[in-house]
Amino acid sequence: MTERTELLARAVADADAVTVLTGAGVSTASGIPDFRSDDGIWERYDRDQFDIRRFEDDPGGFWNDWLAARGEVFPADPDPNPAHGSLADLVRAGAVDTLVTQNTDGLHQAAGAPDDAVVELHGSGDRVVCSGAACRYRGPADPARERAEGGERPPACPDCGSPLKPGSVLFGESLPEYAHLTAHAAAERSDLFLVVGSSLTVEPAASLPETAADRGATLAVVNLDPTPLDGRASYVFQNRAETVLPEVRDHVLDGE
Ligand SMILES: [Zn+2]
Repeated sequence: MTERTELLARAVADADAVTVLTGAGVSTASGIPDFRSDDGIWERYDRDQFDIRRFEDDPGGFWNDWLAARGEVFPADPDPNPAHGSLADLVRAGAVDTLVTQNTDGLHQAAGAPDDAVVELHGSGDRVVCSGAACRYRGPADPARERAEGGERPPACPDCGSPLKPGSVLFGESLPEYAHLTAHAAAERSDLFLVVGSSLTVEPAASLPETAADRGATLAVVNLDPTPLDGRASYVFQNRAETVLPEVRDHVLDGE
């Protein structure tokens, strides 16, 4: 694999603008399940429980279920793995410009990627946002979660008293428009687009590498399973993100 990772590393180093799209596969080594494709989770939970309409109709009941599901499904305090670390190193070295992620776990930032380089298409579980129509409050998730665990369900917005909502995008909820536009712009101006740990089946993430390729960008895919984009990609690694990315990082940083 070393020779092939060296070729990909050279392409990353030679590119003017590199955009990386990450999906659940980048976080599985941190113990985070693939929420959208892991049917095992949805045998135990009903998607409708975590739908935006449920939150709007019954925010207290929503928080009851949210806390129960979180405690069962997520590790209490997940750590970034070498895939996150390698990507953060590449961003800090200037080799990667934008990290677009479908994940809501905040692990790219926890690994040291600067906030302004990370675009979170599905929001962030590290935040809560106010559901009040006229209120723009957003804040850290931990204190709100602690209040909910203490019985305040739903936790109230400190500014206006409306129910606070988890900062990750719920089923049936529209994606944050700013993140979507930023990701699209990054795809358009990139000359190398790297997909990591995403099966490219969830829109609009799936169309980002196509947008880049339509404008002449080189495509690379690191994913355990085949993706619909593999046929257009110059580099395909059917392998784990935490195996491939540290090698790529080492070649890029050594080569400079
Ligand atoms: Zn508010």
